[in-house]
Amino acid sequence: MEKLDGAGGVEALTILGTGPAGLTAAIYSARANLKPLCVEGEQPGGQLTITSDVENYPGFAEPVVGPDLMNAFRKQAERFGTRFFQGNIARADLSQRPFRLVMNDGREILTQTLIIATGASAKWIGIPSEKKLMGKGVSACATCDGFFFRNLDVVVVGGGDTALEEATFLTRFAKSVTVVHRRAQLRASKAMQDRAFKNPKIRFIWDSAIEEILGEKAVTGVRLKNLLTEQTQEVKTDGVFVAIGHQPNTAIFKNDLTLDESGYLVVQKGSTLTNVSGVFAAGDVADHVYRQAVTAAGTGCMAALDAERFLESGD
Ligand code: NAP
Repeated sequence: MEKLDGAGGVEALTILGTGPAGLTAAIYSARANLKPLCVEGEQPGGQLTITSDVENYPGFAEPVVGPDLMNAFRKQAERFGTRFFQGNIARADLSQRPFRLVMNDGREILTQTLIIATGASAKWIGIPSEKKLMGKGVSACATCDGFFFRNLDVVVVGGGDTALEEATFLTRFAKSVTVVHRRAQLRASKAMQDRAFKNPKIRFIWDSAIEEILGEKAVTGVRLKNLLTEQTQEVKTDGVFVAIGHQPNTAIFKNDLTLDESGYLVVQKGSTLTNVSGVFAAGDVADHVYRQAVTAAGTGCMAALDAERFLESGD
């Protein structure tokens, strides 16, 4: 089996993920001469590559475009000697050191320490018509696709902060925004609720789920089912934005690492250490609360320092 060798066939540090967490870990550990190997998965650059203007990343008085910001992170990591490798990890064996990561194509990485910064992905409803019309009116990112719905009608699914944030943002473009929620109480914060209730373009349909997204080549409507009465109704819409939360990308670690009830990696308080010595977690994969680029970068830095200290300690 081909191995991706560091010195002596075993990497000192492998970082999984190239969002703000992974790349900040790469910058810090490369500057500490650990020569990290950084594995880029299916979405190099992470979630910021599907956003447009980032206005809240410190250091930028003017908005910076998400992909540009991530390119800058990457170049900085490269400058200090990070090695990048494209591939998907299919299996991980963290039961002994060196840890073993097996790629889809069978190649392996052996590594003394591991930083997991694989992030989280948007959840989908899981109905066939959603898949069929993905990119044809179905989206999980208002910032990316909202612009295409100028003067059109859109539906947002969900009742949390993300749903109301997306709905409010979409009112900049859309003629109307209908929020469809499966209960009659929102999960979103009061401030976010107040803002949405005040917005004349937003209306709510309660206790309802999307049974089918209608349309052949593009979205034309949705069929909703009232979960209390079981009655169905069709609502005309040009777009469906699914905003029902995120799923951390942790499936391959479930045998070795402690996950919380939502599948997020559990780390020790005040550190990035997981339940396995030498394995650290950073960014959204271990954070369902803050989920910001700057907090991901912060924990990426912490993970690099934790890994460096661990390697120095010779444990
Ligand atoms: P969330 O709080 O988990 O809310 C998900 C929403 O989607 C819930 O209302 C849930 O309904 C609904 N839902 C889940 N699965 C569904 C399904 N299969 N079909 C229909 N509806 C479904 O997720 P989130 O809104 O993405 O927020 C995640 C975290 O990020 C939260 O801590 C939030 O505060 C934070 N956040 C903060 C901001 C901000 O402060 N600017 C913005 C976005 C997110 P139920 O309510 O019935 O469970």
